[in-house]
Amino acid sequence: MEATCWGTRGSIATPGPDTVRFGGNTPCLEVRIGDGRRFIFDAGTGIRPLGVSMMGEADTHDAVIFLTHFHWDHIQGFPFFLPLFDADASLRIVGPGHESGDVEKLFADQMAPINFPVPFTAFSAKKEFSNLDADAWEEDGFCVRAMRMRHPSFTVGHRVDYGGVSLAYLPDNELAGGSYEVGKGWRKHLVDFLGDVDVLIHDAMFTEEEYGSKADWGHSTFGQAVELAHEAGAKKVLFFHHDPCRSDQELSEIVDSHRAEAGARGYSVEIGAAAERDDIIG
Ligand SMILES: [Zn+2]
Ligand SMILES: [Zn+2]
Repeated sequence: MEATCWGTRGSIATPGPDTVRFGGNTPCLEVRIGDGRRFIFDAGTGIRPLGVSMMGEADTHDAVIFLTHFHWDHIQGFPFFLPLFDADASLRIVGPGHESGDVEKLFADQMAPINFPVPFTAFSAKKEFSNLDADAWEEDGFCVRAMRMRHPSFTVGHRVDYGGVSLAYLPDNELAGGSYEVGKGWRKHLVDFLGDVDVLIHDAMFTEEEYGSKADWGHSTFGQAVELAHEAGAKKVLFFHHDPCRSDQELSEIVDSHRAEAGARGYSVEIGAAAERDDIIG
């Protein structure tokens, strides 16, 4: 299994000289497996360059696209995903159903004339829409499980398992604070869901100081992401959904300080920040 982040930034695309290292595109993760199958998580602005890259490949442009939720930063790249205009491509789009309603309609509405110049009907690829709320999607050994996150609107996180390698993608999740209808025992359920995962990509938008004025916004701190990774026995945690105001320099310093702190506590989890185009598993 190979995985590449094509967008790591939260909330809004943030191009510019201060975001070159970790990236300015909004969430998109690509997972590829040895038999050629491709899976995509979220359709933020990062899915645009992924689509361009896919069109440069000679083989199939098929993919399964899983969506965590429908906030702008996670769907804004969708109309710019070039394989949608390839009549030979087969694209399956799997989004959370609860509250969000019809996934196909949500995308069609995103491209209503008042919002966008090109109509949804312009896509020539074969498209299939379905839902995944709190269950599992499995095909030929590739398993994706969804779990509800603590985030405004019905938002899920995903865990992928294939060939003994695992990856969890939880881009928007408020680990503490806020009020969400996730039920009792949610934290324990989450720790079990993530148990011994190889790589945990987790929302880490704020420092502890910043979080004070931003509780209820649906996001976590760096320290909370590290604690969760340690508790769940994750081998590696990658900070994700970088704040639009966070420069490369600041993010590097934050990673360094959390590595030092985790080392002092005797944690074995490897700590980093997700960077655009980096191979996560290799
Ligand atoms: Zn987001
Ligand atoms: Zn969100």
